[in-house]
Amino acid sequence: MSRPVPRPYLANPQITKAVLERHQFTIQKKYGQNFLIDPSVPEEIICAAEITEEDFVLEIGPGIGTMTQYLGANAREVTAVEIDRMLLPVLEDTLQGYHNVEVINRDILKVDIRRLAQEKNRGCPIKVVANLPYYITTPIIMKLLESHVPIKSITVMVQKEVADRMQSGPGTKDYGALSLAVQYYAQPRIVAEVPLRCFMPRPKVGSAVVHLVGYEEPRVAVRDEALLFRLIRASFNQRRKTLVNGLKNSPELHVSKEAVEAAVTAIGKPLTVRGETLTLEEFAALADLLSGRQTGEKSGGKMCVSG
Ligand code: SAM
Repeated sequence: MSRPVPRPYLANPQITKAVLERHQFTIQKKYGQNFLIDPSVPEEIICAAEITEEDFVLEIGPGIGTMTQYLGANAREVTAVEIDRMLLPVLEDTLQGYHNVEVINRDILKVDIRRLAQEKNRGCPIKVVANLPYYITTPIIMKLLESHVPIKSITVMVQKEVADRMQSGPGTKDYGALSLAVQYYAQPRIVAEVPLRCFMPRPKVGSAVVHLVGYEEPRVAVRDEALLFRLIRASFNQRRKTLVNGLKNSPELHVSKEAVEAAVTAIGKPLTVRGETLTLEEFAALADLLSGRQTGEKSGGKMCVSG
């Protein structure tokens, strides 16, 4: 039988303030540090992520350990990756008794998550939970999705605007490269909107918790994934242009105007169509039609989206 761990106690403004003062910790804006101070939020995250005592959980950015305490209390094992080494003594203090939690002092973008899943969970799908640092939300999400790490779900706090973009569909103002990239790999769902008062210090923008469940196979089959991503990027880089103009002018696509026009017509769209109205399936069909019709150099294949 596993040893019991303490009850979480940190999600509270007075206690958070006292911990920060005791350790003379200065909040680092550059690391996107906004600590949770309302217990309803970690409780909701635990519930949305369906954390059970069977789970291994990777937490990104434990901060002073607020969410980490809840994870320690509910999961089998937790690895929490924190970039700020000044938080290590704080975490040593607040995670006392949480013997199932390991803290790693690293930049999550440099961690081999696949290896971590292998070592900690015998390569079985892991759950990822985080109140993400907003300055690198997109690179972190894309790393998790693209690196073919076995992932059961990702439950993360992000800016409300980013959460909206992740789950938007064609023809809406929030629809863009991030929507398509996320939806290619996973099904996103906003599970909660979180008011500013739930954080210390208060962020400038609203937040939301989004739950992503990864597909076993990407949502669409496409011959050349790299080309699909280049097409998407080119379409949204020049959002106000027609799809044909966006694609033929893109420096990373080498396709003739005729080839683009023929492909757009073949998917049943008028030549005046804008990329922002196309579904993921239509982008995939376009990529298949244009695959092998490129001239000259190709550039990298990973989805590089801003935000
Ligand atoms: N989980 C805590 C909470 O909810 O109260 C803190 C969340 S705070 C929004 C983001 C945390 O991510 C901070 O602790 C910050 O230092 C950490 N962080 C920022 N960039 C990071 C990176 N590249 N790798 C790992 N942690 C990072």
